[in-house]
Amino acid sequence: MLEIKGLAVSYGATTALAGVALHVEAQEAVCVVGPNGAGKSTLMAAIAGGVSPRAGSITYEGKPILGMRPENIARQGISLVPEGRHVFGTLTVEENLFIGTYAMADRRHAAADAEMLLGYFPRLKERWRQPAGRLSGGEQQMLVIARALMTRPRLLLVDEPSLGLAPKIVDTVYETLLSLRRERQLTLLINEQSSERMLRFSDRIYVIRNGRILLHGRTEELRDGEAIARAYFGFD
Ligand code: ATP
Repeated sequence: MLEIKGLAVSYGATTALAGVALHVEAQEAVCVVGPNGAGKSTLMAAIAGGVSPRAGSITYEGKPILGMRPENIARQGISLVPEGRHVFGTLTVEENLFIGTYAMADRRHAAADAEMLLGYFPRLKERWRQPAGRLSGGEQQMLVIARALMTRPRLLLVDEPSLGLAPKIVDTVYETLLSLRRERQLTLLINEQSSERMLRFSDRIYVIRNGRILLHGRTEELRDGEAIARAYFGFD
């Protein structure tokens, strides 16, 4: 579904990605794990069209998307949930959910889609008319995920959904994402700092460090966690 080869991104003199190869098959849940500054956010930004790589290729469903404008990439069926849970604090949950749909050419499905999504995120329904700024961190994370799903993506990129959330809430977020994958045929690429969580929720794992993929494999093969820890912390 998604195929990335030789992806290189620099910010001035800083190399953020130094030739990354990665692929995601339809309906997989793939986690990218790595320490702060490893290049995870840059990788997602590059897929979504938010940064301009200096080399490499990104193909989505057989079509080259590198160089496309972010809104055109979104139209192909890719949606990004950025790190940091950016909600519009003074707008209600309802307004936050619909905000991305106002610019859509065809909004006929928006109300039905919102209803369907509220089935997955019942807390949002309870808070429907409240300002999003008053939601808990976990609820805000659910809101930004639900908002990203309003454009009907087939591939959802989620940048560090667990940052600063209590473990129980994080489990709920992941369980909801996996239900959406199972029932709505969603494909997931998730940046995660916790290797323990990733081992529970993903099919495949990439470990990234200093802009390079140091290790990748099926989650069941990496289950004991030792190889991941070695790559993550840079032990040889
Ligand atoms: P984190 O978990 O802290 O978000 P990350 O793995 O997502 O880290 P990136 O944010 O992609 O890593 O950063 C990769 C490298 O690029 C780091 O060295 C970072 O300092 C640098 N970098 C990221 N964004 C910019 C920017 N806008 N300008 C300059 N350097 C940047």
